[in-house]
Amino acid sequence: MSRKILVTSALPYANGSIHLGHLVEYIQTDIWARFQKMRGHDCRYVCADDTHGTPIMLRAEKEGITPEQLIDRTWHEHKRDFDGFHVEFDNYYSTNTPETRHYADTIYNRLKEAGLIEVRTIEQFYDPVKEMFLPDRFIKGECPKCHAKDQYGDNCEACGAAYQPTDLIEPYSAVSGAKPVRKQSDHHFFKLSDPRCADFLKHWTADPAHVQAEAANKLDEWLQAGLSDWDISRDAPYFGFEIPGDDGKPTGKYYYVWLDAPIGYMGSFQNYCDKHGLDFDEYWKPDSTAEVYHFIGKDILYFHALFWPAELHHAGFRTPTGVFCHGFLTVNGLKMSKSRGTFITAESYLNHLNPEWLRYYYAAKLNGSMEDIDLNLEDFTARVNSDLVGKYVNIASRCAGFISKRFGGKLGEIDRAATAEYETAFQAGAIANAYEERDFGRALREIMRLADVANQYIAEKKPWEMAKQEGRETELHEVCSTAMTLFRDLTLYLKPVLPKLAEQVEAFLNIPPLAWSDNWAALPTGHVINDYQHLMTRIDPKKIETMVEENKQSLAPAPEAAPVRHAEHQQNEAKAEVAASEEKSAWESFIGIDDFTKIDLRIARIANAEHVEGADKLLKLTLDLGQETRTVFAGIKAAYAPETLVGRLTVMVANLTPRKMKFGLSEGMVLAASDERGGPFLLAPDSGAQPGMRIK
Ligand SMILES: [Zn+2]
Repeated sequence: MSRKILVTSALPYANGSIHLGHLVEYIQTDIWARFQKMRGHDCRYVCADDTHGTPIMLRAEKEGITPEQLIDRTWHEHKRDFDGFHVEFDNYYSTNTPETRHYADTIYNRLKEAGLIEVRTIEQFYDPVKEMFLPDRFIKGECPKCHAKDQYGDNCEACGAAYQPTDLIEPYSAVSGAKPVRKQSDHHFFKLSDPRCADFLKHWTADPAHVQAEAANKLDEWLQAGLSDWDISRDAPYFGFEIPGDDGKPTGKYYYVWLDAPIGYMGSFQNYCDKHGLDFDEYWKPDSTAEVYHFIGKDILYFHALFWPAELHHAGFRTPTGVFCHGFLTVNGLKMSKSRGTFITAESYLNHLNPEWLRYYYAAKLNGSMEDIDLNLEDFTARVNSDLVGKYVNIASRCAGFISKRFGGKLGEIDRAATAEYETAFQAGAIANAYEERDFGRALREIMRLADVANQYIAEKKPWEMAKQEGRETELHEVCSTAMTLFRDLTLYLKPVLPKLAEQVEAFLNIPPLAWSDNWAALPTGHVINDYQHLMTRIDPKKIETMVEENKQSLAPAPEAAPVRHAEHQQNEAKAEVAASEEKSAWESFIGIDDFTKIDLRIARIANAEHVEGADKLLKLTLDLGQETRTVFAGIKAAYAPETLVGRLTVMVANLTPRKMKFGLSEGMVLAASDERGGPFLLAPDSGAQPGMRIK
């Protein structure tokens, strides 16, 4: 039965460029939406630029343009980047639109009627020169803890302390430099502390269909701690929608950008409905049978799984069917970093590399959980080259030429024994289930297993030898035709991840666009295919180096105004997580001694070191800790010959959770130094240290 599905990704803020961290979400959502469409479901994927707030207003002012001009320019840049990565929205819109204003007003008025809006007077920092109230990120001063100068009003980048802007020593406005004064103002609050909200949310978040288990735990912590009312208004000057007063009188108050951001999903969808004759209410009425899913990063869980369902429920709309939360991106195991050249923009990636390589790699790493995913640039090259080029494209490139040259492009009979074997290897529904559950890594492992079966068949039959021998024409024709059928089938499964490549294959095989229901059907005898055109090249590691260098060189001075999307974030916890995902400096942030002592560092003697069959980078080390021995796989093969290591002392992390690797269990980690100047260099203690000694 066909499902009605509406899918969204979080709205990117119109104050900066799309980078590879953002793309984890958009690529993920796009794969899922494309899969649903291929299954024949009525699936719509909408998004928009998030355009309001103080950072946009100030940035436009600084550039000497209007906020409307700024958000228009950014919209085109974002759209260009998404198109470049084949992220195919059914509608990409903006929050600065009549539709979003309509739903913001509707929700606000209904919450007000329900008695869930309250106006309270609060005191805030105010810039007397600029004549505006200052969000936390626009107040700077001396850290009250470590006395570092020029720290933001919400947390210190030198010592990591979080505090209130009122705690800053000698605060000043980051906008004008003036000394801020305290000033009172009326603010509108959404009464999340009302028992109606808390009761509803306890119930809503406990349903495993709504949020992942890890998210539910986090939400439960927040609910246990008690919800505070949410300040949803800001004072003029502000770029956003003015809150309507009684009898339509202006209030001089604006919806906080975070109120209208999720409402932008509705605005974009309304705009889409108007263009395509769809019924908006059918999707958003309380008893709707349509499914609504939000893909989000873990930093905005609070907004999407607490504020948002509570707003919708009490304003008479349906709530989301599911909120799918994912982790952050690291590059080479570290936070994205401008100084390391790993803060890579979508634009610079596209200048050097094929977008489908990244789509494939992200898909291989995604498993539907909230874990962070790592873009290891070496592994990226190795995985794409071996899976996509070595296993998949290779099937076509080795066999298609014979069909064109020897058989006029016409396919022959299919080898039923081979396809039967392939069908046996195929677990019905396994790939579809993995896609549905957003475990794309599992889906790709299944697909590559099938590619192995196809490659094994070709390797056994050796069509290139048949082609040189007299009288084996029929056999050659059958083997190559069978290979084309297997290749078509693999293309179908890979299509949600590699939509452009699949299109090229459809053109080459001369077939209509592949749908999921076409799975496993042989290409008919006599079907004519087109000449094989080169489908995909291997990744040249030099291009990655060039891209990383380019991102180092383009290191621009940090913008004065908060570059982060959640500049005016209220939740300290979420704020800390956002901060953690952003590069602060070349050095990691400070930790306390308690955190350090959690790491059990020990002297170890390398009792044995050997090569690992099939591993390019690893050595297998047997480490003597005095009382016991451990096996550790270390990525130091490039720098050390195993025989030179035996007998020497080094340093290991002894209490790292053992990790199951392809080659065996790794029970710890040895420490080594490296950066662009060289390495890895193993650590060694001074003479006298003995195996098992604790390092502290
Ligand atoms: Zn500090």
